[in-house]
Amino acid sequence: MPRTGTCIALLPGDIPTAGFGILVILNIRQETETTEFKTPGNRPPTRLPHDNKHRGSSSIQTRTIYRPRKKQNSAGAFKSAKRTPVKFRVLGCSGGQLPGYNLSSFLIGDSLLIDAGSTTAALSLTAQQKIRDILITHIHLDHVMALGTLADNLYGKCKVPVNVWSVGRVIDGLAKSFFNDQVWPDFTRITGPSQRSPVLRLRRLRAGRAMKIGDHSITAIEVGHVVPTVAFFIESKNQTLLHVGDTGPTEKVWSFARKHPDLGSLVIETSFPNRLQDVADVSRHLTPRTLAQELDKLAMQSPRIFITHLKPEFRSEVIRELHKLKGHRLRVLRDGDVLQL
Ligand SMILES: [Zn+2]
Ligand SMILES: [Zn+2]
Repeated sequence: MPRTGTCIALLPGDIPTAGFGILVILNIRQETETTEFKTPGNRPPTRLPHDNKHRGSSSIQTRTIYRPRKKQNSAGAFKSAKRTPVKFRVLGCSGGQLPGYNLSSFLIGDSLLIDAGSTTAALSLTAQQKIRDILITHIHLDHVMALGTLADNLYGKCKVPVNVWSVGRVIDGLAKSFFNDQVWPDFTRITGPSQRSPVLRLRRLRAGRAMKIGDHSITAIEVGHVVPTVAFFIESKNQTLLHVGDTGPTEKVWSFARKHPDLGSLVIETSFPNRLQDVADVSRHLTPRTLAQELDKLAMQSPRIFITHLKPEFRSEVIRELHKLKGHRLRVLRDGDVLQL
C-alpha cells in the first residue's frame, strides 16, 4: 500500500564518537522500511532497506547523509574535524531498466560522473553542463547509453570538451562500437559554427596508475567481467571510495584495496539471486553468495559497502539474501540516494 511520510533512521554511529555516524533521512512517497539484524563480533549491525517492487517514480526520494567525523578534544568535548564532505549522488543504480529503475550512473560533486547509463534522464540540462569528466567502467549499453544523449544535449553549449576516461581497451571500444558515425554520430570529432571543439574527448588511463582528475586522484583497476572492465579507486580530499561496477569474481582490485587501509566506502554490484548463480557466472556478475566470497578477499576492516546493479525483477529476492550476509556494513543503493562521504 503506498504510503507518504518521512522516516528518520539512525544508525548506531549517530551518537558522536570518534568514528563515522550515519543519519538517514528517507522522504518516502511509497513504502520503504529499514531492517536491522545482528552481526557477530565488533562489527556494527547492518541495515538493508526492504524494497518495493513497484516504485512508480524515478524522482529523488531518499537522502542519505553521513555526518562529518567528530574528534574528541582534551576536555572531552566533541568537535567536527575540518573537512569538506564529498557528495556522491546516485542517478541510477539498477542492472536493468524499468519505470522507476534507472541504469548505472553516479555523480561525485557536480562535475565527475561514473558511468552514463541514465545521466540525461536524471539530470537537468544545467546540471549536465557542469559535468567535466566521465569515468567509464566498460562499454555495455547500460553504462554508456547516456554518453550519446549527453553529447547531443551539450552540442553548441560546450566551450571545452568533456573528458571521457577509461583504460585503452574501453576507450577503443567506445570509438569503434559507439561513436562510429553508425550507432551514433562521432561527437569526439564533430565541430561546427556553434561548437568550435568536439563535445567529447576520449582520454586513456593506465591500469593501476593514479591520475589527477579535477580534485580527485583516480586509479583504474581491471576486474572480471565479460568485456574489458575496470573498477575506480577514487581518492578525494580525506575520503577514499572504491567503485566496482559490473564484475564477477575477481582478484586485482582486492589486492590493490588491501594496500589502502583508508578505504572508507565500497560500491559493488550484486545482480542476481543465488538461484541464478549459473546466469551470474556466465555473464560474470555477482550473487549474494559470490559477493560474500569477494568481500572475504578484501580481508580488511569492513568499509561501508553500498550495493548496486540489482536486476529490478529480482531486487526483493536479492535483498532478502543479502540480509543473511552478516558481518558487513551493507546498504542497498536506490536511485536518488545522496551520500555525504
Ligand atoms: Zn551493467
Ligand atoms: Zn556489464
